[in-house]
Amino acid sequence: MKTSKITQEGLVREFYEKHPKRDIPHAEAVDWVTVEWKLRTGGVFRDPDRFIRKLSQAGFLQKLSKGVYRYDPDFVVHPHLEDFSASQKKEILKRDNYRCVICGRGKKDGVELQVDHIKAKDFGGEATIENGQTLCAQHNFKKKNYKQTETGKKMFIRLYELSKGNRGYGNSKILCGDSGSF
Ligand SMILES: [Zn+2]
Repeated sequence: MKTSKITQEGLVREFYEKHPKRDIPHAEAVDWVTVEWKLRTGGVFRDPDRFIRKLSQAGFLQKLSKGVYRYDPDFVVHPHLEDFSASQKKEILKRDNYRCVICGRGKKDGVELQVDHIKAKDFGGEATIENGQTLCAQHNFKKKNYKQTETGKKMFIRLYELSKGNRGYGNSKILCGDSGSF
């Protein structure tokens, strides 16, 4: 089962969760996860630093100085707490003129609008107005699929930036070229 299978990132997390509120030089974490990974899976854990950096970028770890990280449960961004409030949703919809920021369609065009995290919650994206965007159900669905890959995420952020700089939605035809029947 996938859910019970240990992941490298999960193991790095586990180490820091065992040692909350302590400033830990990354070598200590690297040593532990390398040995532990070998014990549990028989495999070699290469480059655990990569996951430490990733967890730091995601808001799970705080970087205190070069190579020193700290896990403090009080400061972790809890994804499940980071949903937009009803008033934030209203404000985001209003700011985006009740239109999908990618294709420019709104309720009048018969599409369902949703408020989306530009930077995904799983990656430390916060529930702030700035991190919110209005998407039609179709583009939200597409984004959720894109999200699986790093390239997809970057592409979607880029589309959003483009659409922000082009409120006339002049390029919506290109971006929605395959969606005529939606
Ligand atoms: Zn759209």
